[in-house]
Amino acid sequence: AISILTIDGPSGTGKGTLMQLLAEQLGWHTLDSGALYRVLGLAATRQGLELDAAEALTLLAAALPLAFNAGRVLLSDEDVSDAIRTEEAGMAASRVAAHPCVRSALLDWQRQFARAPGLVADGRDMGTVVFPHAQLKIFLDASPEIRAERRYKQLKEKGLNANLPQLIADIRERDARDRSRPVAPLCPADDAVCVDSTQMSRAEVLDCVLEEVRR
Ligand code: C5P
Repeated sequence: AISILTIDGPSGTGKGTLMQLLAEQLGWHTLDSGALYRVLGLAATRQGLELDAAEALTLLAAALPLAFNAGRVLLSDEDVSDAIRTEEAGMAASRVAAHPCVRSALLDWQRQFARAPGLVADGRDMGTVVFPHAQLKIFLDASPEIRAERRYKQLKEKGLNANLPQLIADIRERDARDRSRPVAPLCPADDAVCVDSTQMSRAEVLDCVLEEVRR
């Protein structure tokens, strides 16, 4: 049996970092599902598609030339790892992800990432929709203010411009859209373990989840 561990929650809670650390510790594969929606948003924007053109987006999603290679994200062989990390790309991702048919088109693709010995999958609906039979489901949350602060620090470290009030507003807007969409709204699975990382360090979150894995 292939083990599956899902990590869901809003953006900026440290899901991606936690996924990487867990995968290293356990020797498992990873799925960054947010990257899928980000690449789709980027590809759509480049093709001049409207982000509410559900049908065109679904066709694009079904044939998206996306690959993960050694920690990099490739779109038709172009390394878009950095291009998909901007705030704009996050917003575009959240808009394309709101279409039910776009989400269905990406389902099988995501499920193919389940490989032995195990998979750590990071996203919004990993435990609720994509891998409902996962052995362990984590829902990672934190206050919007602390998430915006962490993002602010990351941007500053990269020498990029950052505006804290704007980041808080963006996070609230994206949360509201992710939580209120009719299909796969952001919420914990019934059997998820909820972890609030507002007052926790990375190491503390990792320890807490590893404890759940060993339980
Ligand atoms: O996790 P990340 O910030 O990269 O996700 C970007 C956007 O993609 C989210 O705001 C969300 O709207 C969407 N998403 C989703 N389902 C997932 C992963 C991401 O709808 N499993």
